[in-house]
Amino acid sequence: MTDLFLFRNDLRVSDNPGLAYHGDGKALLCVYVREPARPWCNTLGPGVHRKRFQQESLLHLQHRLRSLGQELLVLDGEPLRLIPDLVERFNVKRLGVAEAPGVYEHRLLEKLRQRLAIPLVVHRGNTLFDASQVQDLLPRLPPHYTPFRQALAGVIRKQAQHFRSLSPAPPGLKVATLVSCPDRPHPAFIVRGGQGEGERRLRDWLFRERAVDHYLETRNQLEGLCASSGLSPWLANGCLSVRSVADALDRYEARFGTSDSTEHLRLELLWREFFHWRALRDGNHLFRPGGAAGKRYRCCFEPRSFARWCAGDTDYPLVNALLHQLVESGWMSNRGRQIAASCLINEMQVDWRFGAAFFEKHLVDFDVASNYGNWQYIAGVGADPRGGRHFNLEKQLAMYDPEGEFTLRWCGNRPKQPRHVVDAVDWPIHEPAGPGS
Ligand SMILES: Cc1cc2nc3c(=O)[nH]c(=O)nc-3n(C[C@H](O)[C@H](O)[C@H](O)COP(=O)(O)OP(=O)(O)OC[C@H]3O[C@@H](n4cnc5c(N)ncnc54)[C@H](O)[C@@H]3O)c2cc1C
Repeated sequence: MTDLFLFRNDLRVSDNPGLAYHGDGKALLCVYVREPARPWCNTLGPGVHRKRFQQESLLHLQHRLRSLGQELLVLDGEPLRLIPDLVERFNVKRLGVAEAPGVYEHRLLEKLRQRLAIPLVVHRGNTLFDASQVQDLLPRLPPHYTPFRQALAGVIRKQAQHFRSLSPAPPGLKVATLVSCPDRPHPAFIVRGGQGEGERRLRDWLFRERAVDHYLETRNQLEGLCASSGLSPWLANGCLSVRSVADALDRYEARFGTSDSTEHLRLELLWREFFHWRALRDGNHLFRPGGAAGKRYRCCFEPRSFARWCAGDTDYPLVNALLHQLVESGWMSNRGRQIAASCLINEMQVDWRFGAAFFEKHLVDFDVASNYGNWQYIAGVGADPRGGRHFNLEKQLAMYDPEGEFTLRWCGNRPKQPRHVVDAVDWPIHEPAGPGS
């Protein structure tokens, strides 16, 4: 009997429950499908760093699987066409995937279920808790983070599980070796995809540098590889399981003691968990302007404002620098994301979903639940009990870039642009000349 395991954003061998389950039979076909890009909110397809990280992760997964006598077949195209072909060609009897939030992700499973006559088994995704543990909460999932965290306080989370062997690939399978990506990481954010790199980062940041000890003080910095864990690219692509990160944190605390910093890191992992379960519950409401509650959300869409924000060419030098950092390196710190998002939503009054789509394109750690959940939070249509966040940009600059070094390094100072204001017949209205001009 041949099983097929379809990798999605779980590009690892360790602590991959679905892979372990299907790798226990007679033969296993491991597949990843690169789907065609879908246009959404003026963007199309992943940016260079996101693409690179994904390619590196796939390459590493292929190596790991080969070291276990397995293979990874990577195909380009529509999974709805490719998977049924494979099922027929290799006489597949069972299909397995890991749970993942996202509307397309869910739709694919529904359609595969309809199209295939074999069982489709959906396994635990990359979460600390499994569905049965959160089940009681799910129908009435608290709308805010704090009650969610409190409700899970007494629940014992799942630990990472490892295995050493996999059933072989089906006979007759021919697999091309993936080629390495010619693009290189930006020197400001040198991260490479793959389980091995993620494990190394976890070990180094926690145990070698013990950087978690100052996490609470440094986590809001706008850059610096040690300021926060930097684990999100591997978590988002599934190169690391969040359970293995939590296990490592437990080991660290057992050895060096608990601190406010270690506690805080655990709270951040729970934020990720909160957004994950919310996204699973909210389905396509995650992409609606007013969120799941259908809140009234007032915005306009001025394409030139959006284009200037994307290009880092606004009247806000810090925001410009942040956008340049994102596009050039594929990365922006948590504080930077909050500032850039607040500017687009509040200062430029552009629909938050366009900003979220731009982040989706460029962030190496793009994760549908965390990205759209955080954007909704700042726009006041998501999980913020206070109804949105409006950051004072002057204050943020004074706090996080007081000497202007970050702004200078990422070329944030741009010549002031004329405002995009037009009259009723679409003629540009020029601002009156200032006294100094
Ligand atoms: C507008 C906006 C968009 C965002 N988009 C994404 C995204 O696409 N992918 C993503 O992983 N995170 C996203 N975040 C959350 C957060 O910014 C990143 O997780 C964090 O910056 C990653 O850096 P780190 O690994 O050093 O985090 P750490 O501070 O070291 O935290 C450890 C881990 O906890 C989780 N985490 C931390 N903060 C958050 C948070 N606010 N929400 C959810 N999980 C969190 C991440 O998995 C992170 O790796 C977004 C935040 C904002 C404000």
